Amino acid sequence: MCPFGGPLFDGTTLGLFANLVCHCWLIETDRDGLILVDTGFGSADVENPSRIASFFRHFNNIKFKHSLTAVSQVKQLGFAPSDVRHIVLTHLDFDHAGGLSDFPDAMVHVMQTEYTAAKILDGWRATRRYREMQWQRSRHWRFYEPDGEQWKGFSSVTPVQGLDQEILMVPLPGHTSGHAGIAVCSQGHWKLHAGDAYFHHGEIHRPRRHCPPGLRFYQRMMDQDHAARVSTQNRLRALALTELDDMQIICSHDAAELRHVQSNSPRQ
Ligand SMILES: [Zn+2]
Repeated sequence: MCPFGGPLFDGTTLGLFANLVCHCWLIETDRDGLILVDTGFGSADVENPSRIASFFRHFNNIKFKHSLTAVSQVKQLGFAPSDVRHIVLTHLDFDHAGGLSDFPDAMVHVMQTEYTAAKILDGWRATRRYREMQWQRSRHWRFYEPDGEQWKGFSSVTPVQGLDQEILMVPLPGHTSGHAGIAVCSQGHWKLHAGDAYFHHGEIHRPRRHCPPGLRFYQRMMDQDHAARVSTQNRLRALALTELDDMQIICSHDAAELRHVQSNSPRQ
């Protein structure tokens, strides 16, 4: 997504238009096939951009490309789309759920409150952020209530069911009512996909929050519960600053943060 505003939006890009990624995970397991965490935009969105609400299509200046879809990248890695047997969602916003229709046989795991909000469509923003045609082909769903264990300062954390691989749903409310982070333990280290709980690495990886004004505005516009989102960010910041070696936290849309993780270089 390349919204107008350049560095005022993403903090780094030189020029008029910012660069936001829609970052998904593909987890290869021994017994559970492939597990996808979030799906970004899907091939049907590329072919028919009107699946996305006009307001967000234009405001976010979305660049639809088949090569950027999860299904295309799964194939590029030598897998079949049917190898993706589970999809775990941080939430159901249009830029996270669009790829569901490319994997109609996968089991979709999401918080119950998120699914309910997406079905009720309460108000102007909800009818534009949640797009039912993105997930109406999905036949298999598993819903989660926030009633699990404590985990690293977060409450009501529950394991994703039906997997050998330990993956946790970590409620991170605020951006949407059923928003969750997805945690996976890999080679003894936890990784947490925080979805849209924050948008810029400066919001949680520094003792004092820093966020470019464009992203501040966008987050505020999209907040389902502003106080809950601020509280979620404060807890993520505490976690990020105390578990530097054992915890990698990443959000959905920060291209610089993604480059940093991919390069594996020490955080600045
Ligand atoms: Zn998003």
